[in-house]
Amino acid sequence: MKTFKIAVLPGDGIGPEVMAEARRVLAVAEKKFGFQLALTEARVGGIAIDVDGKALPEETVRICGESDAILFGSVGGPKWESLPPNEQPERAALLPLRKHFALFANLRPAVCFPKLTHASPVKESLIEGGFDVLCVRELTGGLYFGQPKGRHEENGEPVAVDTMIYKKSEIERIAHVAFKAAQGRKKKLTSIDKANVLENGVLWRATVNEIAKQYPDVTLNHLYVDNAAMQLVKNPRGFDVVLAENLFGDILSDEMAMVAGSLGMLPSASLGLKETPTGRFGLFEPSGGTAPDIAGKGIANPIAQILSAAMMLRYSLSEHVAADAIDAAVRRVIDDGLRTGDIWSEGTRRVGTTEMGEAIAAAL
Ligand code: NAD
Repeated sequence: MKTFKIAVLPGDGIGPEVMAEARRVLAVAEKKFGFQLALTEARVGGIAIDVDGKALPEETVRICGESDAILFGSVGGPKWESLPPNEQPERAALLPLRKHFALFANLRPAVCFPKLTHASPVKESLIEGGFDVLCVRELTGGLYFGQPKGRHEENGEPVAVDTMIYKKSEIERIAHVAFKAAQGRKKKLTSIDKANVLENGVLWRATVNEIAKQYPDVTLNHLYVDNAAMQLVKNPRGFDVVLAENLFGDILSDEMAMVAGSLGMLPSASLGLKETPTGRFGLFEPSGGTAPDIAGKGIANPIAQILSAAMMLRYSLSEHVAADAIDAAVRRVIDDGLRTGDIWSEGTRRVGTTEMGEAIAAAL
């Protein structure tokens, strides 16, 4: 039987609560779809600061390094907010993990379920029937990391410099991730750039066009980022996979999370350079944080964590049938009218974290 090694890092706040439900669902998927997951839990974030003296202990990095994928909860909370910025859980755990494992591709699905369109701030007439957009963002290049970067003075006046720089190979590898993702979906890719103004955009567009020849089954179109920001709000149903460089992807994926409406529903994946026999090593986590306002109350929505586990099956382990089945089980439970507090509305049944996890496991 295929066995995969998974590092499980629940973290802080609602992290352990929602992780327990993801594990419950994964346990059913293992039995049903004939693979085995060797799960090893490790500490990360505030809990690791308390117990080990640092947010990312060496032991945790070692366990992650020996695994096929990392299933991550979320880290941080009021208890650690007074620490110096560099020691705070998110900065001291998540960023070094991203760097250590060269996680260059950020995948954020923005899914609005047909029965949850009321949670979106967008007019229901524009999103009737829901939508499902996958944002693929380049995570390690561009304006956030380009050199030179810094501040100096010119003629007594402060000046700030950031450099947008992409190598062709960096664009190629993220384009491959996006085209492959599109192949597993509706086979439509929209590449975002600013080729009318930026040299980076010209190289981006030419490179994506070149890579497109290897994916003749995927329909490619290009949008300037300013137009994309408008079209994504106006007609999210018209999109399938959206590919963008680091800065544009940062902004557009947040915009899409908002348009989707329910933070507790949105998973994410960060894929690394390391290829495994069944895909790419990656870190899979909910888009939201540790929700200190509701932590410990048993009312957090576990769906983002459960869908993150499904993404892990899809992108790192190539267990596509199991991943699709988990997605379908979540949809079914939503269609059946079960809701945690964050997505509750009149006429639906309010449930807690465990009941939601149990219902999804049963639907699976
Ligand atoms: P947050 O996402 O934790 O919470 C924002 C709001 O969304 C809260 O009202 C919360 O109750 C709600 N929410 C989030 N996830 C939910 C879920 N699964 N079910 C129901 N409701 C949910 O963002 P915040 O309040 O800005 O941050 C809280 C802490 O989390 C901070 O310490 C922050 O640094 C940390 N954080 C961590 C990550 C990460 O680990 N990747 C990401 C974002 C924030």
